[in-house]
Amino acid sequence: MGQITRSEKDSVEKRSSAALDFGAAWEYAPAPEATDHIRIDPKYELFIGGKWRAPRAGKYFQTISPSTEQVLAEVAEAGAEDVDDAVKAARQAYDNVWSKMRGAERAKYIFRISRAIQEKARELAIVESMDGGKPIKESRDVDVPLAAAHFFYHAGWADKLDYAFQGRPHRPLGVAGQIIPWNFPLLMAAWKIAPALACGNTVVLKPAETTPLTALLLAQIIEECELPPGVVNILTGAGATGAAIASHPDVDKIAFTGSTGVGKRIQKSIAGTTKRLTLELGGKAANIVFGDASLDQAVEGIVRGIYFNQGHVCCAGSRLLVEESVHDVIVRKLKDRMMTLRLGDPLDKNTDVGAINSKMQLGKIRELVEAGEQEGAERYSAPVKLPEKGYWFPPTFFTGAGQSCRIAREEIFGPVLTIMTFRTPDEAIEKANNTMYGLSAGIWTDKGSKIFHMATRLKAGVIWGNTYNKFDPSSPFGGYKESGFGREGGRQGLLAYTDVE
Ligand code: NAP
Ligand code: MG
Repeated sequence: MGQITRSEKDSVEKRSSAALDFGAAWEYAPAPEATDHIRIDPKYELFIGGKWRAPRAGKYFQTISPSTEQVLAEVAEAGAEDVDDAVKAARQAYDNVWSKMRGAERAKYIFRISRAIQEKARELAIVESMDGGKPIKESRDVDVPLAAAHFFYHAGWADKLDYAFQGRPHRPLGVAGQIIPWNFPLLMAAWKIAPALACGNTVVLKPAETTPLTALLLAQIIEECELPPGVVNILTGAGATGAAIASHPDVDKIAFTGSTGVGKRIQKSIAGTTKRLTLELGGKAANIVFGDASLDQAVEGIVRGIYFNQGHVCCAGSRLLVEESVHDVIVRKLKDRMMTLRLGDPLDKNTDVGAINSKMQLGKIRELVEAGEQEGAERYSAPVKLPEKGYWFPPTFFTGAGQSCRIAREEIFGPVLTIMTFRTPDEAIEKANNTMYGLSAGIWTDKGSKIFHMATRLKAGVIWGNTYNKFDPSSPFGGYKESGFGREGGRQGLLAYTDVE
């Protein structure tokens, strides 16, 4: 079963060289998204209490496009005093308006936000790709529609919480402080704000330093939707801004998505308080391919799991566990597919792999890749031409890495895959679970029973069967172990914003 035959090997090799010729003969013409209809202001202020306000200390920082290094805008840096103002505004809005409003009324506002995101989908997708470097295919087809879907889905819950909690008495928590990373800037904002509002909480949200623009466009949308002032406050800033939100005494709940290191720091900073906390942290997902799987489909899933979006996905399938008998054929098919990946301008509709989000992130990826080479693993990088300006890394994989290698243990958060093998389902489970993380996993096999057998033994919050990186607002998302705790999305996600007796 799954044994690679001589003739199959030859045909894969032939296809590999054919892919090279094919690539050269069928170069796609550039198909860039137009940006002339996009409005990015030269300077953005803080959105507090329904008004745009300068930061008290008068500090601003620049956000750039990582694909061109061009400065896009100056953005306000919120200090501790601004955080205090925002929390006060959120408290007032909570006490006087939002917590008293009927669920059906709250739902109207949340539906309105969803509709406005759909109406501005093109603008949001373009700005997302400019500010963060991800391909327009991803921001247009994944991030923005899912952001709208999260508001839509949660609007539906706002007047049905009695059903969600099966008639048990429940109440909102109060003011939620929300801190999000740079890999899905708009989607993470939607993912956090929508359930908080649906459950009757008010919000102070901080986007990441390198990707503040779509959260600011969302603030404009919230303003246009005429939400009562102070229900949503958006504070741009750096790590210190996030720390000030997390440690503010009048914040009732912290929702954090980001690195395990910062998550632990936040956990320590709120120890001994009554603040509620949910943490969505890092991952080192195992994508497990059995010999009986449809191998071409699996290779497509592997590529989707690690190369689309530059591997900037916390649940990226960054460890590929392949049944030993099909290792060689998978490696060859993967090389074939990598030949056809197009890396470059994130605004080009044909681009599969965009820019690395920041110089700092590129440095981290390079460091771990060097560590992989030094530890004796064999590296293969797709022969792509990297643009001269901006931050780029070619789609890469390692073979021959031991489980103790850094590239097999640490989150790389880049387009870098570590391929290892297994012989039995038990060995696959043991290797997949041999990590401090537990966010996600993938299983590829033609046996449904094998998927269920594996899924109940894998210590991962999200498990995909014969697919990868699929998301839906009705499906709870969250981790095990050092990938964090709490669930976001689905009925379970409402618990993170509600006190249920
Ligand atoms: P990060 O450094 O932890 O940053 C996340 C957010 O926290 C940013 O807004 C950041 O602000 C802020 N922050 C930094 N220091 C802080 C502090 N001391 N107190 C409070 N907030 C602070 O993570 P990242 O490098 O931006 O993002 C990559 C990481 O996020 C990866 O590990 C990835 O796995 C994880 N991630 C997890 C999920 C999930 O759902 N589990 C989703 C996406 C990403 P600045 O940007 O201004 O520094
Ligand atoms: Mg940026």
